[in-house]
Amino acid sequence: MRAGIVKQFGKTIDIENTDKPKPGKHQALVKLIATGVCHTDLHALEGDWPVKPSPPFIPGHEGVGEVVELGEDAVNFEIGDIAGNAWLWSACGNCEYCRRGWETLCHDQTNSGYSVDGSFGEYMLIDTRYAPKIPEGSDIYEVGPILCAGVTVYKGLKVSEAKPGDWVVISGIGGLGHLAVQYGVAMGLRVIAVDIADDKLELAKKHGAEIIINAADADPATAVQEQVGGAHAVLVTAVHEQAFGQAIGMSRRGGTIVFNGLPPGKFDVSVFDVVLNGLTVRGSIVGTRQDMIEALEFHAAGKVEPTYHRRPLEDLNEVFEEMRGGKIDGRVVVEY
Ligand code: NAD
Ligand code: ZN
Ligand code: ZN
Repeated sequence: MRAGIVKQFGKTIDIENTDKPKPGKHQALVKLIATGVCHTDLHALEGDWPVKPSPPFIPGHEGVGEVVELGEDAVNFEIGDIAGNAWLWSACGNCEYCRRGWETLCHDQTNSGYSVDGSFGEYMLIDTRYAPKIPEGSDIYEVGPILCAGVTVYKGLKVSEAKPGDWVVISGIGGLGHLAVQYGVAMGLRVIAVDIADDKLELAKKHGAEIIINAADADPATAVQEQVGGAHAVLVTAVHEQAFGQAIGMSRRGGTIVFNGLPPGKFDVSVFDVVLNGLTVRGSIVGTRQDMIEALEFHAAGKVEPTYHRRPLEDLNEVFEEMRGGKIDGRVVVEY
């Protein structure tokens, strides 16, 4: 099969032929139709994070395709079903986190396109106990971005504890952020979009943001405080650490700041501001199988609609270059 393979951390991925995988216990083989390209795939290629995958590996965790072979004891799927892969490829199902409904925090989880091969190839494996089933009638190309970007921001907004009528800032209007604007609107939230590029802010407006702020022109914390008295919740999906410090300043007293974005690095936060303003700062990583079902249902019901552009697998290196430069409008979806 044709696949994008990371052989060493760096700027480019190798696109070449490799063996088709064989499904083991609980697994199924899926013939890919499409896959979204997430900024996490770029972090994986560049070896950005403290916990690194081991090359060679195939990135990709927004894949959608048809089940063509079932391994021993496969569940939930029949041949011909449309399946996805998600970042949460599998978990132990047995630990305290899994038992409490926090499978996304399981120490023994495996991750598509990171610790197991992902969707940047013509075939991929899924763990049928964990893989999402794509609702019937979903547009196969459009649904890919829901599998990571969509579920991540949907969960991020849930844990922000924002309620209908509250102001929420979405900082970073890329693949994740343009969907966060839409999930926010669908949840009855009033959305403020922050990015450093005007075209991203226009996209946010098109998807329902009421206020847009270009953080390259004005300090977004001052702007949000002046315009609405601070936001009840702030969701950071930006890929620059500067946005994380600014998020604290954009919050209203008692607000919650949720971090989805994962740029390598650190940011400064004033202990005094967090304590005196009664802030909650939390991280949020993808979503559980149940969050995924709900995120996919929002899409199937037409409440969120990814903006995406189709590209062939052979363009992957160009796509990564565009992503580094912040040049992608919404998401890129690779078509096989
Ligand atoms: P993307 O490249 O599509 O979008 C990033 C956006 O951030 C761009 O619109 C860019 O203009 C904007 N940006 C850059 N600097 C900014 C700044 N200073 N202020 C505001 N906006 C700024 O990336 P993506 O695919 O949406 O992923 C975003 C991040 O989220 C990545 O770090 C990715 O690894 C991470 N991620 C996390 C999870 C999770 O579960 N927590 C899931 C998926 C992705
Ligand atoms: Zn992702
Ligand atoms: Zn577990």
